[in-house]
Amino acid sequence: MRVLIISDVHANIQALDACIEAFPAYDIVWNLGDVVGYGANPNEAIARCRQLGNIFVRGNHDKACSGVSDLAGFNPVAAMAAIWTKKNLTPENLEWLKVLPQGPITPDIELNVACVHGSPLDEDQYLINVHEATAPLLHPAAQCTFFGHTHLQGGFFKQEEVHAIRPAFRDPKLPQRVELKLRPEGTYLINPGSIGQPRDGDPRAGFALYDTDESLVTFYRMPYDIAGAQKKILEAGLPPRLAERLADGR
Ligand code: ZN
Repeated sequence: MRVLIISDVHANIQALDACIEAFPAYDIVWNLGDVVGYGANPNEAIARCRQLGNIFVRGNHDKACSGVSDLAGFNPVAAMAAIWTKKNLTPENLEWLKVLPQGPITPDIELNVACVHGSPLDEDQYLINVHEATAPLLHPAAQCTFFGHTHLQGGFFKQEEVHAIRPAFRDPKLPQRVELKLRPEGTYLINPGSIGQPRDGDPRAGFALYDTDESLVTFYRMPYDIAGAQKKILEAGLPPRLAERLADGR
């Protein structure tokens, strides 16, 4: 089975549409949350993501933008965007966001995998470095856990020690992919990257394909119309910083 794994779309349909056109052949989609927040097209992002599939975990922005959680822990720019999003969501989409499931979820009982937004131990925790990834890898919910939240493509694996995984991409202008063969004796935390707001210094949209038969994860980076997404953010009256950071990939 080929599983397309996407995360952190963040209402950026320019990025999502470029990815949809470029998606490799897949059988099912797992969405790791933060469909909305930051970007200017939350309703369109929800519609497209729901067309792609029905397996989701909720992200912290999905919760904040639908009123499931308050804005504690949100910086002023993120909070402004959450308030704007809540105001601009259709009632139906607001209800849909409210009932998204909390991770970890087991998307397929035949597979030894789990999906979360932040960490298997805490849905809102950021797993940025090896230190933070160690506790969830010591007591893994599954051999392979897919997570988002940090907007950093790659992840971690444990085989005696914990190591970081960072796909080595070269040219930030072209579509690219990097393969990672999963070792049967390893335990993994895999982040497909963010479609709508990458933060690893590479502004291209990120996603991943997990081939369960081959035990192979392929990371993708896809250029998209960044200027178009920026224009929408500014026209919507969202904080200009949210437009600027798309070009930096930070
Ligand atoms: Zn996010």
